[in-house]
Amino acid sequence: MTILIKNGQVMLEQGLVQRDVLIKEDKIVNIAPHIEQIECDTVVIDASHKVILPGFIDVHVHWREPGFEYKETIKTGSTAAARGGFTTAMPMPNLNPVPDTKENLQKQLNIIAQDSLIRAIPYGAITKGELGEDLADFSDLAELGCFAFTDDGRGVQSAGMMYEAMQQASKLGKAVVAHCEDNSLILGGCMHEGKRSHQLGLQGIPSVCESVQIARDILLAEAANCHYHVCHVSTKESVRLVRDAKRAGIHVTCEVCPHHLLCNDMDITENHGNWKMNPPLRDFSDQKALIEGLEDGTIDMIATDHAPHTLEEKNCCMSKAAFGIVGCETAFAQLYTAFVKTGRWSLKQLVDWMSIKPAQVFQLPYGKLAIQSCADLTIVDLEKETVIDIDTFKSKGKNTPFHKRVVYGMPELTISRGKIAYQEESACLQNN
Ligand SMILES: [Zn+2]
Repeated sequence: MTILIKNGQVMLEQGLVQRDVLIKEDKIVNIAPHIEQIECDTVVIDASHKVILPGFIDVHVHWREPGFEYKETIKTGSTAAARGGFTTAMPMPNLNPVPDTKENLQKQLNIIAQDSLIRAIPYGAITKGELGEDLADFSDLAELGCFAFTDDGRGVQSAGMMYEAMQQASKLGKAVVAHCEDNSLILGGCMHEGKRSHQLGLQGIPSVCESVQIARDILLAEAANCHYHVCHVSTKESVRLVRDAKRAGIHVTCEVCPHHLLCNDMDITENHGNWKMNPPLRDFSDQKALIEGLEDGTIDMIATDHAPHTLEEKNCCMSKAAFGIVGCETAFAQLYTAFVKTGRWSLKQLVDWMSIKPAQVFQLPYGKLAIQSCADLTIVDLEKETVIDIDTFKSKGKNTPFHKRVVYGMPELTISRGKIAYQEESACLQNN
């Protein structure tokens, strides 16, 4: 397919410039001030008054298939991601079966090949069944092209197990990506341990539950000479640990979720399951440290931790609800509205954290707009106001506390690997 995008403001290395973009098959073949339509079957898209951004990369999504298709499928998850402007996503392995062997990962890869609207590179598990007892078949999983190794959803409790995982991953040139949580410190909590949990009379999860495991893992990563990436950092202590480790020359990177940048525990207005996520919304001082950590380069990227659940699993009080919220459809627009529109960040910074840095950190050949690069992009109307409405979600999951919030900058058309993966019906961008 040949696609010509006319008159958009294109995010190039030097910033936004008005350009036409020509796509053939899965590559961008030209970016120039004026490109004329040559072939008659070219799809022409009018991007006047819109910006064209390199497709976002989400290194942390839960697509729930195989095993939990009632929450999400690879089809609905990838459609939701495309609607949010993502062109590449990394599905987490808390599935059934867990991708801990070649056969299990192949099963997931087959569904991805058939159903995913965007590029998807699944993780392999660290331990068999994510149970923390026996190491998964690392070399088999790497051979099939798993993205990295993680037991996301739970922390690896044994230092010895984590050390062995890091040594093996390092030999294979893969990262260990860690959900950090010490089981002995969760204490049955359902939100951050602090003033708000006391007001609501709910059991809290202390910050140290996360940071203590990051501290351990940083030392293990140094000893194993492994690339260690921390999932969804949520506390100021975690930010400090990563900052110090980077200064010490240890190969540590990390991500932060939109909701931890946008909110803190005092924003929890009611005891409702839609405010329950893991890690929880922390203190205002943690939120501030996360924003500053992102700005000073301690935190490398933004990842959504898109975690769909059914209504029954979330439409209840916090102590009973499942952990997690959906996020991929609104991540860019929410962050753009809160941080770019208000003047704190430039659009370039946000694109760096959502496209360029994830590609750089994990050495992927995506994440930028240039001639000969992969045709992964999203077209965004930064001026248009949208009210977040769960009834418009492509995800099966409607679990978000942000229903009815007003945002700007919802993506209108997303192209992944040269194919239109999502198009907003009301946007009328195609000319023929
Ligand atoms: Zn996690």
